[in-house]
Amino acid sequence: MKKKLVAALSLLLVIGLLSGCGAAQTKSGDTGSKDAPDIKAIKDRGVLKVGVKVDVPNFGYKDPKTNKIDGFEVDLAKAIAKKILGNAEKVDLQAVTAKTRGPLLDSGEVDIVAATFTINEERKKSYNFSDPYYTDSVGLLVKKAAGYTGLKDLNGKTIGVAQSSTSKKAIKEAADKLGIKVSFLEFNTYPEIKAALDSGRVDAFSVDKSILSGYLDASTVILPDSFSPQEYGIASKKGNDALAKLVNDTVNEMKKSGEIDNLIKKWSLK
Ligand code: GLU
Repeated sequence: MKKKLVAALSLLLVIGLLSGCGAAQTKSGDTGSKDAPDIKAIKDRGVLKVGVKVDVPNFGYKDPKTNKIDGFEVDLAKAIAKKILGNAEKVDLQAVTAKTRGPLLDSGEVDIVAATFTINEERKKSYNFSDPYYTDSVGLLVKKAAGYTGLKDLNGKTIGVAQSSTSKKAIKEAADKLGIKVSFLEFNTYPEIKAALDSGRVDAFSVDKSILSGYLDASTVILPDSFSPQEYGIASKKGNDALAKLVNDTVNEMKKSGEIDNLIKKWSLK
């Protein structure tokens, strides 16, 4: 009888322990499910790593005097940092170009990219994009002295574009429609294209008009032609799906609340 009692008590003890363990597991599991691994990694690090442009005034621009990077897309990045970390200043801004922004996402050196990154079907196969926060069209910057009035005047001319940008395809399609032939020279950065325009290596500099506006000076003009409207989205790595959702929700909340419109005004964008 005594043996049976001991056995029964032992069994109860084991059940108790097991259910205790179970409760402990559920508890830690709960904490895990609250933050998906991609969000948890950012919280553990305490900073959101963001790829931004540093040569696009009003979007992402590094002031050479202060070394400070600011602009519309920096403000967007800060809003996302605030959402994840509760502090808009917890951003680690890294300079990207059209060519480097994808590889930096792939390698995990940045969590998100907010860098005039046009959403298109091909890119959506490689990255998660938020809904659009801005739309712009491809344009042409030329020397005033050349007297060009539109793409139609650029038959046989050379156009400078950035590597891995959508500009070449947009201009090629527009040129085909007009029945003219243009050739392209590709560069890593926009300042290099502007220098090529100034030195006469290229006859026009083509990219999104918002980017071109940062290179406009007394000797140049942006032609009225506009091609292939581009929608910008915030990109993240495929698989970091909780992060993508959080970014998208933030963009949509900011659109709804009018914050995006306010930022567009703040940075004098159209
Ligand atoms: N927005 C265009 C693109 O994503 C132009 C290039 C750039 O963003 O630098 O291809």
